Amino acid sequence: MNYTKSDALHKEALEHIVGGVNSPSRSYKAVGGGSPVAMEKGEGAYLYDVDGNRYIDYLAAYGPIITGHAHPHITEAIKQAAETGVLYGTPTAHEVKFAKMIKEAIPSLDKVRFVNSGTEAVMTTIRVARAYTGRDKILKFAGCYHGHSDLVLVAAGSGPSQLGMPDSAGVPQSIAKEVITVPFNDIEAFQIAMDTWGNEIAAVLAEPIVGNFGIVEPLPGFFDHVKEIAHQKGALLIFDEVITAFRFTYGSAQNIIGVTPDLTALGKIIGGGLPIGAYGGRKDIMEKVAPLGPAYQAGTMAGNPASMLSGIACLEVLQQPGVYERLDKLGAKLEAGILAAATKYNTPITVNRLKGALTIYFTNEKVVNYEQAEATDGELFAKFFKKMLHQGVNLAPSKYEAWFLTTAHTEEDIEETIIAVENAFKEL
Ligand code: PMP
Repeated sequence: MNYTKSDALHKEALEHIVGGVNSPSRSYKAVGGGSPVAMEKGEGAYLYDVDGNRYIDYLAAYGPIITGHAHPHITEAIKQAAETGVLYGTPTAHEVKFAKMIKEAIPSLDKVRFVNSGTEAVMTTIRVARAYTGRDKILKFAGCYHGHSDLVLVAAGSGPSQLGMPDSAGVPQSIAKEVITVPFNDIEAFQIAMDTWGNEIAAVLAEPIVGNFGIVEPLPGFFDHVKEIAHQKGALLIFDEVITAFRFTYGSAQNIIGVTPDLTALGKIIGGGLPIGAYGGRKDIMEKVAPLGPAYQAGTMAGNPASMLSGIACLEVLQQPGVYERLDKLGAKLEAGILAAATKYNTPITVNRLKGALTIYFTNEKVVNYEQAEATDGELFAKFFKKMLHQGVNLAPSKYEAWFLTTAHTEEDIEETIIAVENAFKEL
């Protein structure tokens, strides 16, 4: 494959855009460097780069593109938005229709509010939880990404029940000390942290099914305990469903694990590919938000007609019968092919899959928490990543990011991908 134009574009981008990318995860730093491939066109399950190379895409733009690129129904909705004015700064019928659709799919949401990104959605749930409880601290689980606001860019201290350290320059220590981080799926560490700080904690923030160090499901009963202990201490439970909502079922991961949070943050899929975030939850908590209550949150672009119409169209596609069964079937076929290739070539991998999302970890160990995901073989992954790219398969350049199937992928795409995986494993 020829990457002349991608290489040239990256060089030029480096002159003008910091690091040449508008989000650090797009750089190839974690896979040994090089120019990230610049895409020019998306169509169904495929992306085409500026040099004309075609890729079967499993990045799905880090999750939102579950219906494939340029889905006709969503494209039509975006055209309608373009033709009728993309922003009014007033209420619209679209946002009411969309709020009703989302509430119907996620019953724990009595009230919602639309914002522009997952970062904003999570950031605001924390503010609302603090306003409701009158407390400042939050507890989160190690390795779970919740956007780039100050409070959630905090890593664990050295023990299971220590206060956080800033995970980014520019995050004040005074903010980091309001954050407690414990390992995912470790109920004992959680209990210790809650015994120590529970009475100061406004909320426990969690992905109900982890999507950020690969696909990692909670151990049976984990979140039942988390919720019970949180509530005993007077803390709220916030689920960050930015990746998980509408991913595995028409609705949220909370519908799957059977644990209802007090507040939920949404993003990604619900925008059909346009910028969006949303948050919502119990009526008495949500009524703390302005203009009803004292917790302030606003947005010039919030609930904009284009994102609303695109989001409605996306959910309409996902409402069609058989969508999630098909994603599951294709996911199972892909997983089986990957595992068979690994056996054939003696490649040390573990696959975590739920429906149409999976992660290949380069390890023989089970992965149920961040420490284990972090300990997997990054060098082997980097080689694998490049070999897949050069065979026309686009993945995230990260050793524990998920592969996302879309409604546009076909059995043939999966078969082509399995052949590429076999070739890659053979050469590793
Ligand atoms: N929460 C989770 C679980 C996410 O995966 C992400 C983005 N990867 C965010 C929040 C932040 O969303 P955004 O990038 O739209 O700000």
